[in-house]
Amino acid sequence: MKRGICILGATGSIGQNTLDVVARHPDRFRVVALTANQREEEMAALCRRYRPKLAVMREESAAKRLRQSLADLPEITVAGGAEALQAAAVDPEVDEVMAAIVGAAGLLPTLAAVRAGKKIYLANKECLVMAGSLFMEEVRRHQVQLLPIDSEHNAIFQCFGDERGVRRIILTASGGPFRQYPLEKLGEVTPAQACAHPNWVMGQKISVDSATMMNKGLEVIEARWLFDLPVDRIRVLIHPQSIIHSMVEYLDGSVLAQLGNPDMRTPIAHALAYPERIDSGVHSLDLTHCQALEFEEPDFGRFPCLALAFDALAGGTAATAVLNAANEVAVQAFLDGQLSFTGISRLVSRSLEEYQPSTPQSLEEVMAIDAEARARTRSFLRSGLAA
Ligand code: NAD
Ligand code: MG
Repeated sequence: MKRGICILGATGSIGQNTLDVVARHPDRFRVVALTANQREEEMAALCRRYRPKLAVMREESAAKRLRQSLADLPEITVAGGAEALQAAAVDPEVDEVMAAIVGAAGLLPTLAAVRAGKKIYLANKECLVMAGSLFMEEVRRHQVQLLPIDSEHNAIFQCFGDERGVRRIILTASGGPFRQYPLEKLGEVTPAQACAHPNWVMGQKISVDSATMMNKGLEVIEARWLFDLPVDRIRVLIHPQSIIHSMVEYLDGSVLAQLGNPDMRTPIAHALAYPERIDSGVHSLDLTHCQALEFEEPDFGRFPCLALAFDALAGGTAATAVLNAANEVAVQAFLDGQLSFTGISRLVSRSLEEYQPSTPQSLEEVMAIDAEARARTRSFLRSGLAA
């Protein structure tokens, strides 16, 4: 029987890659709901192509414009607003949800899907950085199947056997566009340079996160919750070619790695079909034609955001929520031309100095920590503290 899928963040990089894989397997999937933030022209094109039952725009005004442009397709219900996003994720015809909204905005709709017992494909790593223990508790309580989409976590999931035999996991990182860039010039790099990732085409926020290596820091926190491992059993290794997507090392010295061309359709297809395998449209990996595979230790001096993420993880769940909120504010400020590239780590670091250590016990407490950290970070930004 076909499974009904809802794609949260359908117009994004992960959303579009998901639709590409789904379109290859019309016998398996039915697109029930698509959601996006504000770009209604892109959403209209997706609706015409995939004919969902439901199309939701986070912005009400964008929903209004989408409704007008889809007036000739009355079978598609168009809705707008935050509650409509959650309603899409829990629609009775939805069996599974691709959580591919970027940032903290993804937490509530993804959690709603968990609580409704939907199968979850998790791309939105910020969910776990903000609320890892609470999120995983809900996953367990509702006995939900949670499959990782992030390529590193998907790779580890593929290599993960009996957890009692695991010595550690090794997350690979490309090092982004500035791995060898002159350090003294990093303060002047532009958003366009930061978003030009050598191996992956992604949304703007994760591209900047990859350039600062905050992305790898967020992924360490994501791995901590997904695989229930302490931080001292999670290692980061720079591997500029992005052919090995991550590895699991066992007590007997065996190391299992997952390899492939860097294309998100592989982890997406893996998760969508699990435990089966389906075609993803990705070409075979030709090891005779790819560059030599290189490895090096991450340089915490060049990438202070990676160190901040490790510190936050050691500091507890309030600290990681603050890290995420401050980083979102800082990255947006960089993209808007209000903050230098090197200002991102300074601003996040400043915000982390001020947080109140606590362990949030509820989602409301997480949201309050997030809101407070954003306000504080914006005030540091305005006062020029990170300049
Ligand atoms: P993107 O910017 O390309 O797309 C984001 C999507 O979320 C869009 O559809 C947008 O409309 C929607 N969105 C943005 N803000 C929203 C809001 N406030 N409310 C509702 N919807 C909103 O991002 P992406 O690169 O596809 O990344 C999505 C998530 O997947 C991120 O958490 C990212 O870290 C993770 N991820 C992405 C990749 C990748 O290759 N792109 C790889 C691994 C993990
Ligand atoms: Mg990743």
